[in-house]
Amino acid sequence: MSVPKKKRTRGSKKRRASHFALKKTKTVLCSKCKRAKLPHQVCTFCGSYKGKDVIKSKLDKKEEKKLSKKNLKSKEKQA
Ligand SMILES: [Zn+2]
Repeated sequence: MSVPKKKRTRGSKKRRASHFALKKTKTVLCSKCKRAKLPHQVCTFCGSYKGKDVIKSKLDKKEEKKLSKKNLKSKEKQA
């Protein structure tokens, strides 16, 4: 294993670390549901992009789960 030739001073360490801080994530408001979302990406809540529905929204998925549960119960009753 290689060994450092000289001691790294506090100042040089800190100068290097001055660029390590995390940047705040930038967000924009969704045009449909007005929630904060990442720019140039599909809204994760309502699933719209540029005013169009692109993927299934969280609300749609909840309704689907409810419907599938109801369907299962009705099938059990029939059997
Ligand atoms: Zn949205």
